[in-house]
Amino acid sequence: MRRLLASPVTGIAAAVAALGLMSALLTPYQLTLANNIGLASLTVLGLVLLTGVAGMTSFGQAAFVGVGAYSAAVIATVPAANLPPGLSLLAGSPLGGLLLGLVATVIVASVLGAVTLRLSGHYLPLGTIAWGLSFYYLFGTTELFGGFGGISDIPALHLAGLTFSDAASLYWLIWGAVILAVLVTANLLDSRSGRAIRSLRGGQLMAESMGVNTFSAKMTAFLVAALFAAVAGWLYAYTQRFVAAAPFGTQAGIDFLFMALIGGVNRVPGAIIGAGVVVVLREWLQDVLPHLFGRTGNFETIVFGLAIVVILQKTPTGIAGALARLVPKRLWRPQARRRAVGELPRRYMPLPGEVVLEADSITRRFGGLVANNEVSLSVASGEILALIGPNGAGKSTLFNQLSAVDRPTSGEVRFLGRRIHGLTARSLAANGLARTFQHVRLIRGMSVLENAAVGAHTRGRNGVLASMLRLDRAEEARLLAEAAHQLSRVGLGDQLAIKAGSLALGQHRLVEIARALASDPCVLLLDEPAAGLRFQEKQALARLLRQLKAEGMAILLVEHDMDFVMGLADRIVVIDFGETIAAGTPEEIRVNPAVIEAYLGGAE
Ligand code: ADP
Ligand code: MG
Repeated sequence: MRRLLASPVTGIAAAVAALGLMSALLTPYQLTLANNIGLASLTVLGLVLLTGVAGMTSFGQAAFVGVGAYSAAVIATVPAANLPPGLSLLAGSPLGGLLLGLVATVIVASVLGAVTLRLSGHYLPLGTIAWGLSFYYLFGTTELFGGFGGISDIPALHLAGLTFSDAASLYWLIWGAVILAVLVTANLLDSRSGRAIRSLRGGQLMAESMGVNTFSAKMTAFLVAALFAAVAGWLYAYTQRFVAAAPFGTQAGIDFLFMALIGGVNRVPGAIIGAGVVVVLREWLQDVLPHLFGRTGNFETIVFGLAIVVILQKTPTGIAGALARLVPKRLWRPQARRRAVGELPRRYMPLPGEVVLEADSITRRFGGLVANNEVSLSVASGEILALIGPNGAGKSTLFNQLSAVDRPTSGEVRFLGRRIHGLTARSLAANGLARTFQHVRLIRGMSVLENAAVGAHTRGRNGVLASMLRLDRAEEARLLAEAAHQLSRVGLGDQLAIKAGSLALGQHRLVEIARALASDPCVLLLDEPAAGLRFQEKQALARLLRQLKAEGMAILLVEHDMDFVMGLADRIVVIDFGETIAAGTPEEIRVNPAVIEAYLGGAE
């Protein structure tokens, strides 16, 4: 029964039934309103993906609605002879207009994305305002687009023998598109590509270190959001039968962003709720306010602005977020997972004793500060090497260079015998180097299972289209099964479904270890893995690391807890002020005068 309740088919059937009921109950005026909500929902859904999930704020979505709308209008109204060469074939065909809109959007969004997605911080939203403005003027001044007067007399939409000329028929077309878009978005988010997009929230450094191509993850979110907006634009053109530049400016872009924020910017239902609330509220205020103030004017804009500030203060997660807190947790349990058939491919492991990772006379300067000075070390398959030293000794700096997050000023790092100079953290991850971070980097709003599955990213192949169409289920089941297996190895097997943010700090570290293991690494770099763990948890971790070592893993760990390190490591390298002061077995290190001096000296 629960399985049936959670199945997408049931969801679609319920949505269609609700739409049918509404269409029977609503007046023609209300149907028009419902259509406007549907059109806005499509664009806002794209913003949920782009801004809420991927963390990129865009004020420019209305420009893509314009691209879709003008494509439809031009193809529908301009005679073949007056169209640019190449396009005359499409003249008069609504689907031709849609095709043109989608292709134009992909081209425009790819160019804009290539330029703006590399911007960081506030520059990205500013960039979207810039192209939002320039598109507005482009639409308004292009002769083919009828200047600021726009294109009127768009004929009614004829599609597959049906005519969509009134609110009632367009209602089904528009809301059909919304249901499809919701489904495709939900599928995408619940997949390997979706996790890559969601992992952008954990910082690019983390995502790249897990083998995720962060630029292409951003680009995917950007393109999907733009395409949703373009489809909305195409539908808009046939709903209004008139297209002009005004509704595609930055003001409209800001409206879409408000809808997303009010509805709940990181939840799919938030798009529809936000669009609904804003469209209805605006209509209502336009009616009521002039009576209230006794004269006409754009009062709704002012009241609206105030309402938005209040709503955002009261529910920063939007209305959908507030509703989610009201619904009992059990309803939100992830649906029954498909059983994994077969296993993910394993990596070829180096032979025991083979050197996997080497630092050769590494020096790293930050301005005048020498964080690492001629440090050399190597770690072999089936060996645990501990790197210890007082705070600020340069351990994390060395780690970053070993994992290609940072580059040495001089000296070189070799991984599997190859110089890593010029390689990215992402390509090292794909080739079997996995790491955890001293400052834990998890996606707090994502489940423990999904966080660990991000680590298995490089072991999957399915892309965006496959996940949108749910053709990725067999591989997805294997990826999740692998993540679940690694989580049970670190002792979190019964916490798979809970949000990572609600675990204790020590357990965050364990999730990071499981995430690293899910990549099937041959070398594991652990930055202070035992910090914050309780005694029993430390012992369990030590057992796990010994077992990994027995399986042939090369392990390099930075750790403060001396008892933990002494009982576990085969060899220890001690650095202080960036220099190696001792190296040897735990017994040798324990009695080494320089080490005792460094540690006791540091304690004074
Ligand atoms: P550890 O991990 O051993 O505690 P770190 O490697 O984090 O030490 O730091 C070593 C030294 O390098 C410290 O003095 C730190 O302030 C400095 N350092 C680390 N990263 C940077 C950076 N990006 N820019 C400037 N100084 C840095
Ligand atoms: Mg450190």
